[in-house]
Amino acid sequence: MTRVAIVGAGPAGIAAADVLVAHGVVPVVIDEGLRPGGQIYRQPRPGLRLDIMALLGAEAGNYRRTHATFESLKDRIDYRPQTLAWAIEDRTLHTMKDSAAATVGFDAIILATGAADRTLPIKGWTLPGVFTLGGAQVLLKEHGCLIGRRIVFCGRSPLRRNTLALLRGSVLQKSFRAQGPMEPVHQCDHVEHRHAELTLEVVRIGRDVGAFANDRAD
Ligand SMILES: Cc1cc2nc3c(=O)[nH]c(=O)nc-3n(C[C@H](O)[C@H](O)[C@H](O)COP(=O)(O)OP(=O)(O)OC[C@H]3O[C@@H](n4cnc5c(N)ncnc54)[C@H](O)[C@@H]3O)c2cc1C
Repeated sequence: MTRVAIVGAGPAGIAAADVLVAHGVVPVVIDEGLRPGGQIYRQPRPGLRLDIMALLGAEAGNYRRTHATFESLKDRIDYRPQTLAWAIEDRTLHTMKDSAAATVGFDAIILATGAADRTLPIKGWTLPGVFTLGGAQVLLKEHGCLIGRRIVFCGRSPLRRNTLALLRGSVLQKSFRAQGPMEPVHQCDHVEHRHAELTLEVVRIGRDVGAFANDRAD
């Protein structure tokens, strides 16, 4: 049988595994994450009181379908979570899990490793309180944490609108309200959305922001 390795159990890796299984292949699916879903369909950590469906809004149907597909496949694939793929040599994939190195032989390999934030370094970008969109999303979806009550967005990432929607959804959930006392709503220019418990401000980079000049970004 053809040996196929897939690196990544996000939507792309799961879709690839689905097609391969339908054709009688048992792929090895390697992912460094604890659970499948990748970035967009990242799952909340077990025990977290977070209504991920409500949070995802229009994306909830795709989230459900992706995870249902994975559930239907999991006994027909060789799924290896918390496993890092770190090198490919000839037809061998080198992996690491719990500090133990291993190899996976393959005839074909699919790299479904997704995308990562590309952060533009500007003065102050490493200060406490400065997050990438991706980092803010990981905290929200997996850990149920808001990065703050007053959030300024810099830049024009296509994910900005999506992250705004997630943050708006979060303020409607009780578990987020329980995270501490609410700050009063700040009045500020360029406010894109204002809610009784959260202010989101959008600032275009290059026009309004050259640096985060204070001790903290807020
Ligand atoms: C933090 C973040 C949040 C995002 N949120 C959204 C969103 O809400 N909406 C949207 O439309 N797009 C979002 N994106 C863009 C996103 O990349 C895609 O929409 C979607 O997740 C891509 O699916 P994918 O399967 O190609 O990759 P991903 O979903 O990124 O899945 C890739 C998988 O590969 C695994 N992986 C990567 N490298 C290795 C390695 N070396 N060894 C083992 N495993 C590895 C990762 O753990 C991950 O599970 C986000 C991107 C980031 C970085």
